[in-house]
Amino acid sequence: MTVSLLGATDIRRLAASLDVTPTKKLGQNFVVDANTVRKIVTAAAVQPGERVVEIGPGLGSLTLAILETGASVTAVEIDHRLAERLPQTAAERGVPEGALTVVDADAMRVTELPGEPTVLVANLPYNVSVPVLLHFLETFPYLQRGVVMVQAEVAERLAAKPGSKIYGAPSVKAAWYGPWRLCGNVSRQVFWPVPNVDSLLVGFERDAAPRGGEDERLRTFQIVDAAFNQRRKMLRQALSGIFGSSSAASAVLESASVAPTSRGEDLTVDDYHRIARVQQGD
Ligand code: SAM
Repeated sequence: MTVSLLGATDIRRLAASLDVTPTKKLGQNFVVDANTVRKIVTAAAVQPGERVVEIGPGLGSLTLAILETGASVTAVEIDHRLAERLPQTAAERGVPEGALTVVDADAMRVTELPGEPTVLVANLPYNVSVPVLLHFLETFPYLQRGVVMVQAEVAERLAAKPGSKIYGAPSVKAAWYGPWRLCGNVSRQVFWPVPNVDSLLVGFERDAAPRGGEDERLRTFQIVDAAFNQRRKMLRQALSGIFGSSSAASAVLESASVAPTSRGEDLTVDDYHRIARVQQGD
């Protein structure tokens, strides 16, 4: 099977034929460089026969590079014109029938994915990158791993470890599902239009066993949000609202082997999870 990738001229011609002008609102910065989309697919180690989900396929640059490996793709696109056109582009470019399924929908709202994909690969719309990642990890337990391109600061935050300035609520929530790592940078010049931010690739691998049930996750995330809402305060203070008073918060923290004088940025996801379990009375 030979799939031919899209170049810069193809992308502009396709957009013009659809009367599409990239919009900021939908985070539409299309990749116009074949080496970059191949780099993303290589970083994700996509294998023939795997099923990949792509959020926001746009005009199809990255989609074709995933399909080129012999994997199949479920692609979720919110822009109807792009979603409608993608199967035709794939067929014209040598993609075998049945390898691509397009879901014309808002990725933030999908609750089912045809083919139960195990890998996520995407150049994410920047305005929703963290919520959409967390939504996918939470909603689709069959997703095992992924590599996504996001704004550099977001990638660094997702992969940040405790104790760093950029470690925040998204870092802890992402770590709930498994480890994250930075896996490459991307030049601004490969996008059309050229964005005014830098991008990085960030990858994750889901832990073999889920860390806890839905209740525990919600409780943990609530504590994480409270801790980082007042990140300069000591935890006994930052969590006093949740636990009723700072002395009640201190008692819970001590039972969870966490110093009441520590701050939100000092704690690992395990620490947060322990606090939630003590609160729950486990
Ligand atoms: N994958 C293409 C590429 O690399 O050239 C396009 C990437 S562009 C950064 C983001 C894409 O996500 C656009 O096609 C946009 O229409 C789509 N998008 C934006 N918000 C979305 C949402 N909530 N659900 C699904 N797709 C979305």
